[in-house]
Amino acid sequence: MNPPSASNADAFALTPIGRIESDYPDKFGIPRQPGLAPAARARLVLLPPYDDPLSVRGLEAFSHLWLTFVFHHSPERWSPLVRPPRLGGNAKVGVFASRSTHRPNRLGLSLVELKGIDTDNGVALELSGHDLLDGTPILDIKPYLPWAEAQPDARAGFAPAAPPQCPVAFCAAAEETLSQREDAASLRALIGQVLAQDPRPAYRKGAESRIYGVRLRDVDVRFRALANAAGETRLEVVEIVAV
Ligand code: SAM
Repeated sequence: MNPPSASNADAFALTPIGRIESDYPDKFGIPRQPGLAPAARARLVLLPPYDDPLSVRGLEAFSHLWLTFVFHHSPERWSPLVRPPRLGGNAKVGVFASRSTHRPNRLGLSLVELKGIDTDNGVALELSGHDLLDGTPILDIKPYLPWAEAQPDARAGFAPAAPPQCPVAFCAAAEETLSQREDAASLRALIGQVLAQDPRPAYRKGAESRIYGVRLRDVDVRFRALANAAGETRLEVVEIVAV
């Protein structure tokens, strides 16, 4: 008997229950998983008719949430094999053995921290430590249950631990720009945490003369990669420009 094949008749129509307003206006530089930049802030604004405060009664008692979302800035096309950046962008693994953004149905899943709930005007959830692009459509929210879902001894294939961190320094001009801002401390933390992931393409590791820019909140953060005598890479913020 021929194996059943997926057809449009089996397709489900899903409606976003909310949208993300995030510290990440661009995809470039967004950490590859939640929790890598705890200083990243977002606001999940629920859309009518889901913006009824009754729908979040009791949610304040949970510290972390699962968000199911759509990679709305990823193409619909997918392929069975993908190149995880963690493997240097060369080796290929199965799409279902990865957290790639290029996948069937374009569904993402992220565990984020709940910092607050605002029900003054509809419903908005204050979140942190996320990995979501500004404007990301959210399909569902579920409270995280550590007793059921935390598996610290689980095997995690080619991604057995968090990626290595890269040292980050700020030049005097960048520090000066930060010192003028009300959100200086949280923005400095966000920049440090995002750059510690070394967001440059996997094939561009080590020191180089090129200046990169990553958009965070309302600034463009210009940085470069330097190497110390031992050849270890560190990133230096050379300029922070309001956009
Ligand atoms: N934690 C989620 C998961 O495992 O399904 C996402 C993992 S994915 C590797 C994280 C990357 O998704 C980020 O680095 C960012 O570049 C990308 N991303 C985030 N929001 C997106 C969106 N709305 N559309 C397309 N790509 C997005």
